[in-house]
Amino acid sequence: MPAETFEFQVEARQLLQMMIHSIYSNKDVFLRELISNASDALDKLRLETLRDDTLQADTSDLHISIEADKEKRTLTVRDNGIGMSHDEVVQLIGTIANSGTAKFLRELKEAKDAAASEELIGQFGVGFYASFMVADEVTLVTRRAGEGQGTRWNSDGEGTYTVESVDDAPQGTSVTLRLKPEDTEDQLFDYTSPWKLREIVKRYSDFITWPIRMAAAAPGEDDAEPAAETVNSMKALWARSKDSVTAEEYSELYKHISHDWTDPLETIRMQAEGTFEYQALLFLPSHAPQDLFMQGHKRGVQLYVKRVFIMDDCEALMPTYLRFVKGVVDAQDLSLNVSREILQQDRQIEMMRRRLVKKVLSTVKEMMSASPENYRTFWKEFGRVLKEGLLQDFENRDALLEVSSFASTQDEEGLTTLRSYVDRMKEGQDQIYFMTGESRAAMESSPHMEAFRAKGLEVLLLTDPVDEVWVQSVPEFDGKQLQSIAKGEVDLDSDEEKEKAEAEREQRQQEYAGLLAWMTEQLGDSLKEVRLSSRLTVSPACIVSDTHDVTPALENMYRAMGE
Ligand code: ADP
Ligand code: MG
Repeated sequence: MPAETFEFQVEARQLLQMMIHSIYSNKDVFLRELISNASDALDKLRLETLRDDTLQADTSDLHISIEADKEKRTLTVRDNGIGMSHDEVVQLIGTIANSGTAKFLRELKEAKDAAASEELIGQFGVGFYASFMVADEVTLVTRRAGEGQGTRWNSDGEGTYTVESVDDAPQGTSVTLRLKPEDTEDQLFDYTSPWKLREIVKRYSDFITWPIRMAAAAPGEDDAEPAAETVNSMKALWARSKDSVTAEEYSELYKHISHDWTDPLETIRMQAEGTFEYQALLFLPSHAPQDLFMQGHKRGVQLYVKRVFIMDDCEALMPTYLRFVKGVVDAQDLSLNVSREILQQDRQIEMMRRRLVKKVLSTVKEMMSASPENYRTFWKEFGRVLKEGLLQDFENRDALLEVSSFASTQDEEGLTTLRSYVDRMKEGQDQIYFMTGESRAAMESSPHMEAFRAKGLEVLLLTDPVDEVWVQSVPEFDGKQLQSIAKGEVDLDSDEEKEKAEAEREQRQQEYAGLLAWMTEQLGDSLKEVRLSSRLTVSPACIVSDTHDVTPALENMYRAMGE
């Protein structure tokens, strides 16, 4: 069958153009991406053979190999893993499935300078396409385990690629790069140099659990094939002693499992011994992924059993409100065949999950004092997700409230915690006042705010949609009731003031009785009651809900959801 020519999907084409004219300074990462894909493919093959014993696959010597040819200036990364079918090649390599890509490309166009573009690329990560930073032609040959036909994919990255069937492809995938001409000014290194390759593998991929082999530096000359040697230590970072692992090594593991190109914000290590032994290595990313609020966003914790990768997106280990946490949990006493269903019902797993959650929350709390800058980044990126926990996780409600922060009338720009709000409370104030609304500006000019401003009382300004919901179910913090300033009677005065006000009110009530009766008659269909108020200092009127009514903003939200 002749080779078929396909066009890259528009977004893929734009991305490739950027890679070809790369502005990304750290080009070495292309190798990390290829090795990462090869390692994933080996993991997948092992899992599939565990689950399906009819699969005809060779699993006798699973490994990754790197072969360089100085003369031809080619570099090949090969694995004997799961491979891809013809359709998978077209689907996975010719298009970009990631729904955030369009947004990413838009932002990239708007990026002001090279540094800004570079940062964006780093946040997004471009996987396989990173090869085009260093190669002007890429050839991928693959055969899916269990299938007879292989597939060859080839492209120079300029708009089209070809796909054809091949007969003699070995199981797994090989990716061969024809390297661009060496260009020292562009800091393009010689990627055929064994020394350089070894150094990159050590730096980025040492922890990969499969052997990465390279031809050993030939000692003699004329001998036949030089022996292959394994370059990586294959040691799981979580199994090494704490002080023997560097921050950079953690960072590279994070990048491998998260597909993120930026360093994590925080690394968390945990170890449990005894009847149910496990190690966990968790990461808080430094930025939110594009699809954090999209349906079906996956959780980021992988399950290993005794160093063997078992599954991605292990929902039994993290609640949805911590779906942004990435990492690895390695349990010693589970079966390699463990299924999602079994995990969901396992009591030990449940206990482990509870400990992991507590540890994540206590880490955030420590961050607040130990590195406030990191905490601010964390909250900006993930605060909205974390607050979902106030509705889902009663056990940790207090801990969640402790690490949350909010806009407040106290501070024009910064955020405040509930703890510091409470510390600032006035003599005699026994409630935490808040208002929910669409924007800070709208709330600040709201009539509800007037009395509070006049009395110098601090009000929290809650603008996230999720705030509307959790404030309904969280009654208090530190024994102080949370009180909406837009609901029911808010008691701001001392007894003495009250008596005086009451007398005044009665008098005014009589004075205005006619007007109130008239207004009630006119507006009767849309209101429960028209009342004289002592709360307003500037505005003539405002709408107040009963304590148990939904707020106007929540009403809007329900309406938008079609309820
Ligand atoms: P990502 O790894 O983040 O999914 P990549 O661009 O690196 O994105 O790879 C795209 C997809 O192509 C992978 O998800 C995988 O399905 C497939 N793929 C890439 N390399 C290999 C490989 N060596 N073996 C099998 N499948 C691969
Ligand atoms: Mg990848």
